[in-house]
Amino acid sequence: MAQILLKHATIVSMNKERQVFLDGDVLIEDDAILSVGKVDPAMIERGVQVHDCTGKLILPGLINTHVHTSQQLGRGLGDDVDLLTWLHQRTFPYESSLTEEDSYVSTLLCCIEQIRAGVTSFAEPGGQFVRSMAKAVDQAGLRAKLAKSSMDCGDGLPKIWRRSTDEELATQLEDLKALHKSADGRVQVWFGLRTLFNNSDDLILRTKDLADTYKVGVHMHVAEVKEEVEFSKAKFGVGTVQHLEDLGVLDENFLAVHTVWLTNDEVDIFAKRKVKVSHNPAAAMRVLGFAKIPQMLEKGICVTIGTDGAPSNNRMDLIDEMWLTSLIHKGWRLDPTVVKAEQILEMVTVNGAKALMEEKNLGSLEVGKKADLIVINPASAGMYPLHDSIANLVTSMHSSNVESTMCDGKWLMKDRILLTLDEKSILTEAQQRADSIRERAGIRLKHRFPVIDCRPEGR
Ligand SMILES: [Zn+2]
Repeated sequence: MAQILLKHATIVSMNKERQVFLDGDVLIEDDAILSVGKVDPAMIERGVQVHDCTGKLILPGLINTHVHTSQQLGRGLGDDVDLLTWLHQRTFPYESSLTEEDSYVSTLLCCIEQIRAGVTSFAEPGGQFVRSMAKAVDQAGLRAKLAKSSMDCGDGLPKIWRRSTDEELATQLEDLKALHKSADGRVQVWFGLRTLFNNSDDLILRTKDLADTYKVGVHMHVAEVKEEVEFSKAKFGVGTVQHLEDLGVLDENFLAVHTVWLTNDEVDIFAKRKVKVSHNPAAAMRVLGFAKIPQMLEKGICVTIGTDGAPSNNRMDLIDEMWLTSLIHKGWRLDPTVVKAEQILEMVTVNGAKALMEEKNLGSLEVGKKADLIVINPASAGMYPLHDSIANLVTSMHSSNVESTMCDGKWLMKDRILLTLDEKSILTEAQQRADSIRERAGIRLKHRFPVIDCRPEGR
């Protein structure tokens, strides 16, 4: 059995009492945490690997509850355009032009950004190639709940995506049977629903049934944009959340993403049904809407944070999203006391674990839980000094302060060096593939400034 001992750290455990251990240790054996805080020397075996963490902070690995890994190569395709252009002329053409190998490289690139930002687990709402995403996640050493973006109706869908309800469900079942709990259990398969625009009631109902049967979650974009709620009202006479409630699918295993356009009654429905919320502050600012996060927290709703996809946010960096979450609600509520730093740390740790249905295994540094953790080195001009370290972790930490990332007892990044992936070659391949996808998809971006080509001819 392999043991690792991290010594002399400030440990922000996020356990039930939210204890912070000063000059504490974490003892890890294989993939699990054996002891936290004051470690009994009798538990330490000869041959243990010891790491001195003096001056550093240790946190549970962060949990990103909504990230489109397959959209990573589309970063920068959706800036400064209106919603319909974003969707029909940028994102749909891009995504529907991806090959399975593109999706694999896209996910690898996204995994690098996740690891560098201290994320050890994430939920993927759905590209089209769950197999290639799973392969990349396995290689990266991360944990993920992967889903296919399922769609069985709606206007303006690329031809390749026009599929029947039965086909969409069959593909997801195939993925689940082949990949669920693979990569030592790190890769799990969930069911995905894109949005109310593209999902029939039949698909929504059958998806929820299957998720219950296989004891996994349903991941869906809910009330993301105003137009979606208007569409729902025109078609069903009620908004998105009320319609999902009428269908009877809102439940503890339902992860609702964005949730920007909810009425007060719909917030109450979420609380009653114990629906999990993924708040994506940057994406919400892009499509202009404030989710009622302070109100949801008051009602005891499990709120988590997600980055969304690269064409909607551009930064797949959960630490940036923590900072944004700490700011935007204070601004629109004109109240600097709402959405506090400790609540935001809960969103990206214990709440994230609950939303991923992994409360027993993840989200805090406690004996018996999985050894998913990050080592933070705050000694930088951007984060020093520390008067109130919990606040600093949310308001002034940058992903560059994440020094090391461990998942399942293995270092994925140590001292800022990636250990599971070849970053340089992935970056090169990502750029080449991104150029080729843009060409294939026929996406033409206007130059924002005059471009003078100084290359010698023929180069
Ligand atoms: Zn999304």
